[in-house]
Amino acid sequence: MNASRRDFLKGGAALAAWGLTGCATRSRRSGLAKVVVVGAGYGGATAARYLRLLDANIHVTLIDAAEPYLSCPGSNDVIAGLQPLAALQCNHSGLSRNWDVQRVRATVKAIDPDRRQVRLHNDAVLAYDRLILSPGIDFRWDAIAGYDEAASQTVPHAWKAGPQTELLYRQLQAMPANGTLIICAPPNPYRCPPGPYERASLIAHYLQQRKPRAKLLILDGKSQFSKQALFQEAWRRYYPGLLEWLPYTRTGRLERVDAQSLTVHTEFELFKADVLNVIPPQQAGALARQAGLADAAGWCPVHPGSFASTLAPDIHVIGDACNAGPMPKSAFAAGSQAKACALAVAASLQDRPIPAPALINTCYSFVTPQAAISVAGVYKIERGQLSNVAGGETPLTGDWQEEARYAQNWRRAVRSDAFAENS
Ligand SMILES: Cc1cc2nc3c(=O)[nH]c(=O)nc-3n(C[C@H](O)[C@H](O)[C@H](O)COP(=O)(O)OP(=O)(O)OC[C@H]3O[C@@H](n4cnc5c(N)ncnc54)[C@H](O)[C@@H]3O)c2cc1C
Repeated sequence: MNASRRDFLKGGAALAAWGLTGCATRSRRSGLAKVVVVGAGYGGATAARYLRLLDANIHVTLIDAAEPYLSCPGSNDVIAGLQPLAALQCNHSGLSRNWDVQRVRATVKAIDPDRRQVRLHNDAVLAYDRLILSPGIDFRWDAIAGYDEAASQTVPHAWKAGPQTELLYRQLQAMPANGTLIICAPPNPYRCPPGPYERASLIAHYLQQRKPRAKLLILDGKSQFSKQALFQEAWRRYYPGLLEWLPYTRTGRLERVDAQSLTVHTEFELFKADVLNVIPPQQAGALARQAGLADAAGWCPVHPGSFASTLAPDIHVIGDACNAGPMPKSAFAAGSQAKACALAVAASLQDRPIPAPALINTCYSFVTPQAAISVAGVYKIERGQLSNVAGGETPLTGDWQEEARYAQNWRRAVRSDAFAENS
């Protein structure tokens, strides 16, 4: 048994240790405030660690259904054959070993905000003083005719790292030398705004090396996209004639996908692929929606600054699932929100005023394995809303090789900050 497995108490064992099998009771360490964090991805893991950093008197339980957690940042490299899937595996063991975060492997199936309890898949119940949710995204399986969860088994989305990532990698390897790969990019808002274009860039790199007669098309549900001028400059510079971006304003909206024939029907045209990657429209993770924490658009409204839900007391929602106004849905943004949320939760448990945070996002995208571009933003609360108050992008004439070195360091630093991988 490796350290990570040993440290990760499976649902039942963890609850027994807490004296919580089947009913809500107080923590054995009674007197300590109890914070339950659901989702051990970039948002949830960061919140758990920073809560313990801010106040060692808070008992923190971090629950996740999946183990190991696979990082989406870096997953486009796996698709392009630049690193193995195993490189995406994050190690949470430092969180329990060095930060005394109680980790529980379980699916949370319901939240009772009135009783301040979460119910697990095995019907065990955990009580909380504050609940932080970072459940990530789910797909809108009803948004594209012909593209549902069953269709994704042969036409991957690869927008959650894991078997889907490997499936797209294998399909790319097996694609005919003169084949066409189509990426259908979703409308806003969705997880990782520049992600589809980084994926296109790294797949283009693969095709250029291995299948130079192949073509890559991006059919886009938007007419503009993140870091657009930089990506388009990269495609002109590195992949002339290989990659074409077609916004819906040229093709008409995506109407239907035929997973059997790998055909995409838009309002005006029909596109036939050899490999098809459909990234569907998205919404907050199911748990948040089922708990009544999402609005009609499918995302969770929160008070900017504390990330407290506007729809339920004592519950905070961070990361991709929340509506953080101008902040993009990224790992770095999730971590930044997690820190602000941890500060707000610790302050409220100590009856202190909640400080107004400044939030940050920094996002790198590789355009070749050795060249990257980036965007950064600073967000503050103005007139009760989060506003983008400063920011910048890599210059078109910047040193993109140097940016790639920063990008590699960024990945290591963000993982270490969230999952305590190096502590
Ligand atoms: C291809 C790709 C590339 C990306 N690249 C970057 C990048 O370079 N930089 C960047 O900043 N961001 C990047 N992102 C975005 C980043 O992955 C997400 O923004 C980030 O993971 C959001 O963190 P989160 O905590 O909100 O959700 P997640 O990381 O998805 O974590 C959610 C966790 O909640 C758990 N969960 C959900 N429901 C339950 C439940 N009911 N019970 C128990 N557990 C539950 C899940 O198992 C999961 O582990 C990329 C995304 C993709 C798809």
